Formats: sequence, C-alpha cells, structure tokens
Amino acid sequence: MTTNIPPYKKIVVAVDFSTSSKNVAARALNIAQANGAEITLLHAVEYLSPLSFGDELIPSPDWLLVEEQLVKQGEKSLQTFAKEMGMDEVTRLVPSGSPSHEIVETAKEQNADLIVVGAHGRRGLQRLLGSTASSVINHATCDVLAVRVQ
Ligand code: AMP
Repeated sequence: MTTNIPPYKKIVVAVDFSTSSKNVAARALNIAQANGAEITLLHAVEYLSPLSFGDELIPSPDWLLVEEQLVKQGEKSLQTFAKEMGMDEVTRLVPSGSPSHEIVETAKEQNADLIVVGAHGRRGLQRLLGSTASSVINHATCDVLAVRVQ
C-alpha cells in the first residue's frame, strides 16, 4: 500500500549545546536534505530575572542588560555551532524564554511541519524522555522527532 504524504518543508531544530546537540542537528540536516526542507536552528536562552519569581520588585534595567548579554552570547555560540555543522546558510533564532515554549511557538510561527529535539539534553538523562522533549511532544501542532542519545 502506498500513501501520498507530502515531504517535510520546514524543520525547527532545537539545540542546547549539550553533547547530543551534534547528533540532533546531523539528523535534522539529513532529513532536510532528503526532503528539500528549510531548517531553522533554535537555541533558547533561559534567563529568570527576580521578577520571574513573582516578587514585588521594581524592575531593574540591569536585568534587561543581563538578558541581552545572554542572548548575544547564545547568538555567537549558535553561529559557531552552525558553522561546525556545515549549516551556515540556515536561519538562526535565539529567543529568551522557556525552551519548550519557545520551540513550540517558533514552529507554529514558521509553519514548520517537523520539530527535531534531543530525547535528552542537559536536564533529562535520568528519565526516558527529557523534560523539554516531553513538553514539546505534548504541545506541538506538528510532528516531533526526539533523537536518542547514545
Ligand atoms: P532536556 O530537557 O534538557 O533533556 O533537553 C532535551 C532536548 O531539548 C535537547 O537535546 C534540545 O534538543 C532541547 N533543548 C533543551 N534546552 C534547550 C534550549 N535552551 N534551547 C533549545 N533547545 C533546548
């Protein structure tokens, strides 16, 4: 039996720069090449200012500055990573926020049909699926590939 499903056209690839990130990106690259799909490489910066904890504080301009610096650092790291992976031409995004939320929302905004994440990253090695991967699978509106880590 043959089914007529369209090839993937837009892939969002999420990397946290852990040891699994190269496998995740390589798998996505492979799928993109086979399908003629575009890739968006995403790294989310997780910055929790004191306001995130619900304290009644007057926002400090320093917090914004710290966040800006972390995003700049993330952009540099993502550029280096993309170069190492031979992905210089792909779109790179470094949003600030919870990784799973940013991954899912970016995929919606970009009309992506596939999200590629690591089954585990920095947080989730003790569990079957890392927390980011399970949250993305639960909330995404497109296919999700969780790449296994050796
Ligand atoms: P974890 O929840 O730490 O086990 O991470 C699982 C996977 O989620 C990682 O391999 C990445 O694909 C993705 N991920 C985790 N943190 C981030 C982040 N800050 N930015 C982008 N992707 C992330």
